[in-house]
Amino acid sequence: MLIDTHCHLDFPEFDRDREEVIQRSRQEGIDYIVNIGSSLKGSEQSIELAKRYDFIYATVGLHPHEADRADQAMQNTLSDLAKQDKVVAIGEIGLDYFKNYSKPENQRPLFKSLLGLAKSLNLPVVIHNREAQSDTLSILKENMPIKAVVHCFSGDEKFLNQCLDLGFFVSFTCNITYPVKLLNSGRDPAGRNKMIQRDRKGVDLKELVKLTPLNRLML
Ligand SMILES: [Zn+2]
Repeated sequence: MLIDTHCHLDFPEFDRDREEVIQRSRQEGIDYIVNIGSSLKGSEQSIELAKRYDFIYATVGLHPHEADRADQAMQNTLSDLAKQDKVVAIGEIGLDYFKNYSKPENQRPLFKSLLGLAKSLNLPVVIHNREAQSDTLSILKENMPIKAVVHCFSGDEKFLNQCLDLGFFVSFTCNITYPVKLLNSGRDPAGRNKMIQRDRKGVDLKELVKLTPLNRLML
């Protein structure tokens, strides 16, 4: 069985062919789809999709990019949405210190508050982390036990192991296929010439995939 655990079918990019995309994924063998809410509007649309299709489920969340405008009223609305049928997780939530579309000092309290919501409803969380590994981990640790998937994994082997030690799932996405900048080349252990591709921090995400147990891996 294949479950696509992280779709954004509510995004305007799908306005022209949303229905076809959904039908095509079914034809190709996707049994279930989890559509991820990353804004208030997106969370509402996610629930709408889940109402329309029996094989689609929803999550509701406020992406760290939303943090500067996520006031208490917005969080209260989200909390009501979280109690609707077919909402299976809170997310995506987390920290993004790479794009910094919202201030880190606003991102952290929002992340903590939404983790609290997840715990009060006994729901797992979908974590977005970009260049914020240390703060992400310390906030998650304050809220254990919690079930989480660290979505679109980026980071190094140490961070991967810390996530696995906490019992989290890890998801790798298309970024493992990106032709990242070539920083190193040499021979692999079998003696073949091998071009090793690494990201700008020197991490080869494909190697981290191999270190992730299959029962902890989402795609
Ligand atoms: Zn996402």
